[in-house]
Amino acid sequence: MNQAKTIDGVVVSQRLREEVARRAAALAAKGTTPGLAVVLVGDDAASAVYVRNKVKACEQYGLFSTLDRMPATVTEAELLERIHQLNVDPKIHGILVQLPLPRHINSHKVIEAIAAEKDVDGFHVANAGALMTGQPQFRPCTPYGVMKMLEAYDIPVSGRHAVVIGRSNIVGKPMALLLLEAGATVTVCHSKTADLAYHTRSADIVVAAVGKRNILTGDMLKPGSTVIDVGMNRNDEGKLCGDVNFASVSEVAEYVTPVPGGVGPMTITMLLVNTLESAERVLHV
Ligand code: NAP
Repeated sequence: MNQAKTIDGVVVSQRLREEVARRAAALAAKGTTPGLAVVLVGDDAASAVYVRNKVKACEQYGLFSTLDRMPATVTEAELLERIHQLNVDPKIHGILVQLPLPRHINSHKVIEAIAAEKDVDGFHVANAGALMTGQPQFRPCTPYGVMKMLEAYDIPVSGRHAVVIGRSNIVGKPMALLLLEAGATVTVCHSKTADLAYHTRSADIVVAAVGKRNILTGDMLKPGSTVIDVGMNRNDEGKLCGDVNFASVSEVAEYVTPVPGGVGPMTITMLLVNTLESAERVLHV
């Protein structure tokens, strides 16, 4: 019986993080430590964990980081003022505002307030537009991480058919653009797609970014395909799981990413990479 090979996000991440540490040390030797400012509003438990992991990763790999914790009652004007201060702070090369924000704050306005050259999440319209027109400055971390995983395992993209399930601004759409940039023929599926399996059965690469368990099963795949599971869900026992039915997909695919240990670690890694590259750009390295 076929048994897909696992794409190990922890191993790929580790290699990239060590490279980040080397390049950060080279910058530090010239007097600049790459700096990331993280802003967390409110007390959402999941957001607090993500933010802590991001700050910890910075410390571990030679980046400077700051964490602003603002109460859920902070006004939009106060948050925008803090972003303006970070925009002009020379020690800061990347700014990340953890989403979601409380409802009384306009997330779009907040993202647009971040200086485009410090928008390490790549969500600012200037960066989304730069990606769209083939001149990316910051690639959104999760899809960027997926591309690095494909590269690390020598999985060909150019000339292949890639199906992206999900069309969000933070994962699905930039994922489709990055695959397109790499020469894939790309199909984007979403909740209105009439027959998902019709598309996935002809795919060489499937990226699932939906947020629903078992959206993709082995019978929906072409033998030998590569499956990347971006989803983060909880199963009935409360354990972290992806969008993909791992057992049945493993019987058909050649490569599959696990959850946990797949795309998740790559997202933080690419945040470090984007922050480092932002600092390198400032120093013209
Ligand atoms: P999102 O904004 O909720 O988008 C989900 C997408 O899935 C939408 O485009 C939606 O279609 C589509 N969809 C919903 N039901 C579908 C169905 N039955 N068939 C096909 N498509 C369907 O979510 P997101 O922010 O992109 O995140 C997606 C998942 O990735 C979540 O589980 C999230 O937690 C996870 N995630 C993981 C990481 C990581 O680091 N591993 C990072 C970011 C996100 P419509 O547009 O038509 O509604």
